[in-house]
Amino acid sequence: MTDANRSNRWSRRTLAAHAMGAIDPTTKGVVAPIHVATTFLRDPDNQYSSGFVYGRPDNQTVRETEAVLAMLEEAEAAMLFSSGMAAATSVFMALAPGDHVVAPTVMYWALRNWLMTYAKDWGLVVELVDTSDIEAVRKAIVPGRTKLVWLETPSNPLWSIADIRAIADMAHAAGARLGVDSTVATPVFTRPLTLGADIVMHAATKALNGHSDVVAGVLATARKDAAWDRIATLRKNFGAILGPFEAFLLLRGLRTLDLRVRAASRNAAELAERLSNHRHVAAVLYPGLPHHPGHDVAARQMEGGFSHMLSIRVRGGEASAVATAAGVQLWKRATSLGGVESLIEHRASIEGPGTPCPVDLLRLSAGIEDVEDLFADLDQALARAHG
Ligand SMILES: *Cc1c(COP(=O)(O)O)cnc(C)c1O
Repeated sequence: MTDANRSNRWSRRTLAAHAMGAIDPTTKGVVAPIHVATTFLRDPDNQYSSGFVYGRPDNQTVRETEAVLAMLEEAEAAMLFSSGMAAATSVFMALAPGDHVVAPTVMYWALRNWLMTYAKDWGLVVELVDTSDIEAVRKAIVPGRTKLVWLETPSNPLWSIADIRAIADMAHAAGARLGVDSTVATPVFTRPLTLGADIVMHAATKALNGHSDVVAGVLATARKDAAWDRIATLRKNFGAILGPFEAFLLLRGLRTLDLRVRAASRNAAELAERLSNHRHVAAVLYPGLPHHPGHDVAARQMEGGFSHMLSIRVRGGEASAVATAAGVQLWKRATSLGGVESLIEHRASIEGPGTPCPVDLLRLSAGIEDVEDLFADLDQALARAHG
């Protein structure tokens, strides 16, 4: 499926299932080989006619996986990194000292920490704001000075929703770019670039790979512009490219992305509904629930589902929440998210002092198991914790 017309005919789900048709040209194997070479023969006239020179800037297996990711995000190009953090921090490092950045108060904890420490030391002026509040974002953006607005939606671990289209218009009117961490939404449900974002980031470690066996990050861009070139230079100079074996595993995971994400999200929606009526649960945070403050915006910008992530606030406070996590038999007590197996985590004790995460909160990453098993296990753990 190398010719562009054919690619345009098929849906994104179809193209991903075929990894966009990459095959092994020598054997005609339907799975492309893993390209491991770190160096490439130079032509007698001193040129590199293949376009490959060395393994740090570029790799063919990485390129094939990037092509699928760019297709899924409706992006002009995608770039793979050695982790989600490497991808996200490259967007900020490509800015200049003195640049003003607006980012969410509620966001992935490690990136928020990095913004408040390293990014500040390096000269970025970082302002955190409640990005689910349009007026607060409008006030935080300084026309001409703000160079980047960063969103995460739905955002860890409260699953608050930011309005990508409205904030993209606002950022652009002020001369700023918009970056979106879309790890939780996945390209199955939201394509931020089609809503006006300039760059989209994923921890591919999570649902994109989906099997809890690869650490990877990706950026996808609306345009191959000067900012994109600076990011590519950073990746090359820092040696932050993803390894070929990881790129291959990620490509394999992407073939089933659509099925996995829809199944896990159906489970999350069903659990959110049932837990909302549970006597030991004080609140359920899930954008698919009509009373969630971001529900209307989520319903507009998430097409077909509200993600595999939800949180519950357990009655009885921190001790009951920790006891509930201790009592599960099927759910795995572990950090991370987006795998085929369901994970449960007491988030406040991971994030430490200063976290906006309530101490009675458990973060649930729904997998693809039978939802009856998932609910029964939570139900017995909640009952035991409230003995
Ligand atoms: C995990 C995660 C990251 C960081 O990704 P790593 O691959 O762990 O570096 C960033 N954003 C979100 C929303 C995440 O869940």
